[in-house]
Amino acid sequence: MPLPADYHTHTPLCRHAVGEPVAYAARAAALGLSEIGFSDHSPMRHNDFDDWRMRSGQLDEYVEKIRQTQRDVPGLTIRMALEVDYLPGQEEWIRELAARHPWDYFIGSVHYVSGGWDIDNPAKLSCWRERDAFEVWAEYFDWLTQAAASGLFEIIGHADLPKKFGFRPTRDCTPLFERFLSAAASTHTTIELNTAGLRKDCREIYPSRPLLELARDRGVAITFGSDAHRPEEVGMNFAEAVALARSVGFTQTARFERRQRQLVTL
Ligand code: ZN
Ligand code: FE
Ligand code: FE
Ligand code: ZN
Repeated sequence: MPLPADYHTHTPLCRHAVGEPVAYAARAAALGLSEIGFSDHSPMRHNDFDDWRMRSGQLDEYVEKIRQTQRDVPGLTIRMALEVDYLPGQEEWIRELAARHPWDYFIGSVHYVSGGWDIDNPAKLSCWRERDAFEVWAEYFDWLTQAAASGLFEIIGHADLPKKFGFRPTRDCTPLFERFLSAAASTHTTIELNTAGLRKDCREIYPSRPLLELARDRGVAITFGSDAHRPEEVGMNFAEAVALARSVGFTQTARFERRQRQLVTL
């Protein structure tokens, strides 16, 4: 069986990834993938928001890089996307971004919780030690639920990102997952199996099997992403991700073109 599309990859424009898009595409082709999507960290309206994304003036350059890669690697289907940060209040900015280019899809990701804390930032690990894990997970999933309910995104990124460093609540998070997935189901938003978790302290694909089972129960569709920040990471651990999806009972995966969804057999 061919591997599914890798819909979550980055470029050096975000200032913490290496390798030109053509090297990512070449890696995808070498692995036998038929499709890849670039989904670099979208700009914020104000460039002083943080230092790990492209600047707003670089959006055209990003699009041109992807177009050039499409010309350089013609045998591969290459999608043009963004990984967009969802924070409450950003909806208008996200709509503006959507209108600027003919995107194939948006991945909506929550990296920030209140107080301007990006919970996956290794430089801010100490924040995890000062906070109650359940409180952080609850706040994160509240924003993730709002992201899914907004209908602004085709895919929700790494849905249980708070597990990255291993700070897991002792309380049951099932109600948080259920609320999020019901919102995703109501807007036909998909979730991704993101293999980057296997390369982090949690040593697990995002999201966990229990969350995937609840997604399956609600008819929420899936995509696959490596979250590659270097060319060697493209398609990494995809066989494992596909095996997990199949074992949960998923038989299809979603593809996107110009923000239209198509389900294909997994
Ligand atoms: Zn990144
Ligand atoms: Fe992310
Ligand atoms: Fe990413
Ligand atoms: Zn990511």
